[in-house]
Parts: sequence; C-alpha cells; structure tokens
Amino acid sequence: MRVLNSVVALREQLGEERSQGRRSALVPTMGFLHEGHLSLVDRARQLADLVVMSIFVNPLQFGPREDLAAYPRDLERDLALAAERGVDVVFAPSAEEMYPTNPPQVTIHAPRLSDRLCGRFRPGHFEGVLTVVAKLFNVIEPDIAVFGQKDFQQSVLIRRMCQDLNMPVQIEVAPIVREADGLALSSRNVYLSPEERRAAPTLHRALRAAQSLVAQGETDAGRVRAAAHEVLAAEPLIQTQYLELVDPLALDDVQQVRPGDVLALAAFLGRTRLIDNTVLG
Ligand code: AMP
Repeated sequence: MRVLNSVVALREQLGEERSQGRRSALVPTMGFLHEGHLSLVDRARQLADLVVMSIFVNPLQFGPREDLAAYPRDLERDLALAAERGVDVVFAPSAEEMYPTNPPQVTIHAPRLSDRLCGRFRPGHFEGVLTVVAKLFNVIEPDIAVFGQKDFQQSVLIRRMCQDLNMPVQIEVAPIVREADGLALSSRNVYLSPEERRAAPTLHRALRAAQSLVAQGETDAGRVRAAAHEVLAAEPLIQTQYLELVDPLALDDVQQVRPGDVLALAAFLGRTRLIDNTVLG
C-alpha cells in the first residue's frame, strides 16, 4: 500500500495506473476507521482494480462551534487497517496541501438540498463537503466513488453534484454498518459515556418502529414519524434535533409514504451528535 501526502505525487502515481488501463474507486473518509469505512473498501474492491482511500479531516465542513479540534484521529492505526483490508493507495494530505490559499474563493454550493435535514443545523457544512469531494475527484480522477448510506443527505448531494456539473464519476452508496445492538458505527461513537452508549441504540429502535408500521401497511407520514418519535421521547438521554420523512431525491417532506422514502434523524446524546436513517417500504 502506498501512502501519499502531496497532490503532485498522487497525480503522478495515479496517472501511471490509469495509463495501464486500471479502473480506480475512491473511498473518501475522515479517518479513525471502523468497519463502516472498511465495508466501503470491500465494495470498491469489487468494482475496480485500484482502491484509493483518502483520509482527511476537512476543516471546511466543520462549523465554528463544532468538533474539528477534538475529532478523533489515529493515522497509524488507520493505515494498518487500510493495508489489511486491501487498500492500494492512501491519500492523507495536510490542510495546507488541500487548501494552500485558505479560505478557498471558489466553492460548491447547493442551497436547496443543503438547507434541509442536517444542513438546517449545520450552515456551510455541505458546501465544505461538496467542495472537498470535488477537489478529491479532480485530483484523483476516480472512475467510481463509494459513500455510505449512513450520511444519506451527503450521498444525495454528491450524486446531484456529479449530475449537474457533469463529473464523470459513478457514485455507489453502501448500506449502513451497525453494532450488534443496532447503533450505526461512527467515528464519533467514542465520545459517548457508558450511559449514553447504552441509550444510543434507541435511535435505531425508533427507525425500526417506523419501518414495522410501514410494513403493516401504514402510509400516513405523520403516523410513521410519530411512531419513531415516541421511541425517542421515551429515552431521557436523547435530545432529538430532527426526525424527518423525505423523498430520496429532492429531500422534500412527504405526506404519504412511498417505497424508497427515507426517515432520517439527528440527535444529541450529551454533547455528541449522531445521525441515522432508514429507507422505508
Ligand atoms: P466519515 O469518515 O465519517 O466522513 O465517513 C466516510 C464515509 O464512510 C462516508 O461515506 C460515510 O457515509 C461512510 N460511513 C460512515 N459510517 C458508516 C457506517 N456505519 N456504515 C457505512 N458507511 C459508513
């Protein structure tokens, strides 16, 4: 496995691979790898000859009061896990390498989709995400990029960016990997106290309550949301930030549930903000 920190060296390496006709798949991450990230590597491996992983805690997608400084990092461990899982190339740039002129003057903004769900509470977040993903696409020129359904809104925005800006990258979205008790794996789970960790699977239980109502034939979005809300409200350690039932393309609220609609939530456990979602129907 090669580990590269500079754009120039990476371009050189990948240019060579491309000239030999090897198709590449990119797995963008912020590191502190867990099985969720590694499942994306497995998917990438199935789809391409060369698996490239980026590890970069992107300052542009953190708000001023968010956890950029505290975000967990362990590059050495990440590199061992990536190598073991069969990643071919890791790109781990510094913030200066990615943003030599900071702040960038040209960014990617998708207000209509960004202002929904998480974006309502994280102004500028998706502008940061889209901008760094566009930069990674320009530097790496992958044929495929693999993202997780865990960050549902992010995957919708990235697909739309590729469509609207004619970026020739095939976007793949892999299912959410969970702990045995249902908690979605997240680098931020390490922030949870033991009590919060015990309460955290309630997020998934709430989504499951909604799912089973839909499986019984319920199509009224208000009643489906209420079923999930009731489960969340019963856990005093959870403060729900949003719980919304949306269509998977425009992210508009729906009144009648149709197959493919998504119930998405964000909630605080203490100071830790977690997200989760499920596809209904
Ligand atoms: P992050 O390092 O949190 O920015 O995540 C990098 C990629 O891993 C994103 O595409 C996430 O959606 C994906 N990811 C994070 N957690 C999970 C999970 N539990 N299951 C599947 N994919 C995940």
